[in-house]
Amino acid sequence: MPVKPFRLRCRYCNQPVDWPPQQPRCPRPSCRGPLQPKRNIVFDAQLIELAAPGMWRYRHLLPPVPDNPISLGEGWTPLLRLEPGSDRLIYVKNETLNPTGSFKDRGAAFLINTIQGEDKIVIDDSSGNAGAALAAYAARAGRPARIFVPATAPEAKKTQIERYGAKLIPVAGDRDAVARAADAFAQQPNVFYASHVWHPGYALAMQTIAWETWEQIGRRAPEWVILPAGNGSLLRGVRWGFRALQKAKYIKTLPRLVAVQAENCAPLAAFMAGEYRPGRFQARPTRADGVAAPNPPLIEAMAAAVRKTRGKVVTIPEDTIRQAQTDLARKGFYVEPTAALPYAALPRLASQFNPNDAIVLILTGHGFKAQ
Ligand SMILES: [Zn+2]
Repeated sequence: MPVKPFRLRCRYCNQPVDWPPQQPRCPRPSCRGPLQPKRNIVFDAQLIELAAPGMWRYRHLLPPVPDNPISLGEGWTPLLRLEPGSDRLIYVKNETLNPTGSFKDRGAAFLINTIQGEDKIVIDDSSGNAGAALAAYAARAGRPARIFVPATAPEAKKTQIERYGAKLIPVAGDRDAVARAADAFAQQPNVFYASHVWHPGYALAMQTIAWETWEQIGRRAPEWVILPAGNGSLLRGVRWGFRALQKAKYIKTLPRLVAVQAENCAPLAAFMAGEYRPGRFQARPTRADGVAAPNPPLIEAMAAAVRKTRGKVVTIPEDTIRQAQTDLARKGFYVEPTAALPYAALPRLASQFNPNDAIVLILTGHGFKAQ
């Protein structure tokens, strides 16, 4: 049977919360911790609905949503060899081909289907891609949306958000200031805060990337999955997905998860080195705007995802991000700067790889979104 009834609990205080949560964090005012599944989700391949489009083939393995979910065709993106002629088993999971051009569509699509109450405004704070995704799915659902973005977000992303009809609210200051503005607005009634950072449904939807990869690579786990890490929904979700496969004995070993950050903004690297102080971390500007999150609230959970998979954190200097983008484009993959980080990490990991290791790079966002 599917995972019903599905329940959540607070990671900090264990407060149980029913699915679907109507606020993204622990409801106890003194806690407001992150929510996570009460029990591990256990995968069952017999529950894959082969005829369902995109990521909805896994709908019976995800927390329940209504029949005929609102969708724009997200998920089931191609897994391709990085270089068709090469002997090396390096793959790209091309998430740029999602409807709004990034992997965030999986989370936004999933959350839009969990909202109760027809007149709710949906909001998020975002460096751009999560905002564009939510704006698109709000449009599809006929709901008003407000997206809080850093004033410095790339123009293409801001334009995309507005074109979908969402109200764009640029906020001066760093990424944390943007989150505070959204959080304050979310205290009003009739607001659904579809936080891609906090709402557990967002990371839960990212499990579908792990499950698709497992199917597409021949029902096995790659040895490595390399992905950009900003606020951690992708990192945490991919770990949960492979963990669900391991729990059900479809795979023996979890892939080692490599979280890649820009050297100019690498709080997770600092955290792993014991040099991170919450709220005090100083970042420099980076062209990888998708990971420009100096104080990720769930940094502990992100570190756990790396440690528990015997993974790594790799940081990339600014001057190699552009070159990685160009190299990927010369192989046919046009990605935004953030999405080039996993490729840029390859030479830094070379000594760790065995010759027959299968390595998956997640290409998170399209090159049309930011130069
Ligand atoms: Zn709590």
